[in-house]
Amino acid sequence: MMWRCHGATNAELVSNLQKQKILTSPEAALAMSKVDRKLFVPDSKLAYNDAPQVIGYAATISAPHMHSFCLSLLADYLKPGNVVLDVGSGSGYLTAVFGLMVGETGHTVGVEHISELVERSIDAIKMTPAAALMEKGHLVVHVADGKLGWEECGPYDAIHVGAAAAELPEALVRQLKPGGRMVIPVGTNSQELVIVDKLLDGTVKKTNELGVRYVPLI
Ligand code: SAH
Repeated sequence: MMWRCHGATNAELVSNLQKQKILTSPEAALAMSKVDRKLFVPDSKLAYNDAPQVIGYAATISAPHMHSFCLSLLADYLKPGNVVLDVGSGSGYLTAVFGLMVGETGHTVGVEHISELVERSIDAIKMTPAAALMEKGHLVVHVADGKLGWEECGPYDAIHVGAAAAELPEALVRQLKPGGRMVIPVGTNSQELVIVDKLLDGTVKKTNELGVRYVPLI
């Protein structure tokens, strides 16, 4: 039922994602309910469709079920006070949701290489309750190559990558905290959503979660 979660409003979309058990974290659902998807898509009529939308510059905002799926996989690593990196932050939607989850005792970093998208995402985040986090410097979005991560704010409890990497970027694995988790699509023609867990002893464990289709991490 991955594709059947569309709603007439943001609240209905979130509720349907919960009913279909794709969005299993109450904390993520609460944050999603506070971040209106309409602010992050070019065509507001399509805002609550459970489908990806083109946002320009060869980028897409991922479908609500993919955002929910990744949030559910990362929820335990997005506790208040945690540090999170969103690579290929694009529309900024997930960056805002992550920000509300880790709060002002935590730190949220978005990295996107298209400067126009970064500007637009900052404008959109300003219209959400995550605006206060950005004003106080607890949430920042940088124009940069996400394959390199954002070293100075790491290591991270949670890393989300919103574009498919040909191979697992070494810098991102390095910037993951022991006990932390990264969710990243890996592959070119055929892609898998991979969960990368860094165990407390530093060992890296990879689990292929499901087949996906993301734009490439260039
Ligand atoms: N989570 C985002 C996904 C946007 S699509 C959302 O739902 O809005 C993936 C994004 O990754 C695009 O915006 C694209 O410009 C960006 N991207 C691709 N390669 C990148 C790189 N090397 N560094 C940073 N961003 C990159």
